[in-house]
Amino acid sequence: MVIQRIFRAVIMGPPGSGKGTVSARIAKTFGLKHVSSGDILRANIEAQTELGLLMKSCIDQGQLAPDDVMSRLILSDLRAMDRSSWLIDGFPRTVSQSEALDDAYSVDTVINLNVPFETIKQRLSSRWTHLLSGRVYNVDFNPPKVPGFDDVTGEPLAQRDDDTPETVTRRLKAYQTQTEPVLEYYRSKGVLEIFSGTETNKIWPHVEAFLHSKLSPIKQKVS
Ligand code: AMP
Repeated sequence: MVIQRIFRAVIMGPPGSGKGTVSARIAKTFGLKHVSSGDILRANIEAQTELGLLMKSCIDQGQLAPDDVMSRLILSDLRAMDRSSWLIDGFPRTVSQSEALDDAYSVDTVINLNVPFETIKQRLSSRWTHLLSGRVYNVDFNPPKVPGFDDVTGEPLAQRDDDTPETVTRRLKAYQTQTEPVLEYYRSKGVLEIFSGTETNKIWPHVEAFLHSKLSPIKQKVS
């Protein structure tokens, strides 16, 4: 019997670096709960909640949502899963958000997907998403089984409004100025692990091996 302590991880990387895909694989292989700030915001927009309506223009313009809103949103989700191991994707995106997270939880590991900006610009223009689940496909290297439709639900795929070339440039700029300092923050705490590459399928085995050294895969786990 393997009893695991609670493991708390963050995944970082520029928009389009493969965080969503790698997070889904981590969640499946190691049983961590996947919390995606972008998916939570998009679900709010889709459901036309007050928060969703307020945040939509920020997101569509490639700007970050306000720190206090994001910290409250994510921390309240995390409180609801206090006894679970989790992986947060898309939060924290600023040093102020990392401090808010730190005040509530200590993070065991921060996985950073270090993918060159040129690769990302190219990739985002061929990215298609199942908006409700956040599942992503790429017409070049990870196409859906039926073009234009989600493999799991069969529902139509869409291009995200914020994947246009101008918005992508703005999101990468926001990443450089506001999110890169978060990497320094975690480096100084000794929890940052960097995985570099241009293809998710080549980066993944390294992430998987690293997590194997920290965690047991789900099949050995006893809940
Ligand atoms: P993502 O799917 O993670 O790329 O997030 C899509 C958009 O949601 C971002 O471009 C931001 O506008 C917003 N967003 C997501 N997470 C955060 C966050 N932690 N702080 C501020 N804005 C965020």
